[in-house]
Amino acid sequence: MLRITEIKLPINHTPSDLASAILYRLQINLDEFIGYHIFRQGYDARRRDKIFMVYTLDVDVKNEAQVLARLADDTHIMVTPNTQYQWVAHAPQTPTIRPLVIGAGPCGLLATLLLAQMGFKPIMLERGKSVRERTKDTFALWRKREFNAESNVQFGEGGAGTFSDGKLYTQIKDPNHYGRKVLEEFVKAGAPPEILYLSKPHIGTFRLVSMV
Ligand SMILES: Cc1cc2nc3c(=O)[nH]c(=O)nc-3n(C[C@H](O)[C@H](O)[C@H](O)COP(=O)(O)OP(=O)(O)OC[C@H]3O[C@@H](n4cnc5c(N)ncnc54)[C@H](O)[C@@H]3O)c2cc1C
Repeated sequence: MLRITEIKLPINHTPSDLASAILYRLQINLDEFIGYHIFRQGYDARRRDKIFMVYTLDVDVKNEAQVLARLADDTHIMVTPNTQYQWVAHAPQTPTIRPLVIGAGPCGLLATLLLAQMGFKPIMLERGKSVRERTKDTFALWRKREFNAESNVQFGEGGAGTFSDGKLYTQIKDPNHYGRKVLEEFVKAGAPPEILYLSKPHIGTFRLVSMV
């Protein structure tokens, strides 16, 4: 699969414009084109009167090696990197100890999930209430000014940002593609699938509660 970066099209472009742009950039005919998927979709809105969509695409073509060799000087065309999560460990056949994770915030939840996926039987401890109980306590503060020091917007299942709008902007320096694994798990848990490719991904207010 080939990755093409910096495909820029007017904001009102059609899917067939995108396909044409791929053929043009790869200098191939339609019969050599198999398909594509969007890896990243962003905007170039530096000029208000001329807003563009900017894509990074992964494209399947026939004779990939030939196409790549022909375009070797084009720095915007490369082999698609392997973004699959590489497991850092595997549990022994019969694990004798169970890892302990303290706190059910994003770090604790992801650590516990990964440990379980690697075959361990982690135990996660959380001092606060379940996310549904927290929701009631948080709304009691926001709407009725009733403060519960043990259960609030900061503490409890889901962690500090559970009641935020879920902005996910921290994927800039990620050479090992760890962020990709996190986003894929978010989608499995109910996040909108477009977070996998939008340049400024966003889960949406209160969706985090059901995801947690
Ligand atoms: C209002 C708000 C909005 C935010 N919005 C965003 C956003 O849109 N995008 C974004 O990327 N980030 C956002 N953040 C930041 C984000 O929430 C934090 O970076 C993130 O929660 C940190 O995760 P964590 O797991 O390290 O810690 P925390 O989320 O703080 O989780 C720690 C967990 O440990 C529990 N705990 C603490 N002590 C103990 C103990 N002794 N025993 C057992 N459990 C314990 C706590 O109850 C908590 O559940 C927001 C934060 C806030 C407060």
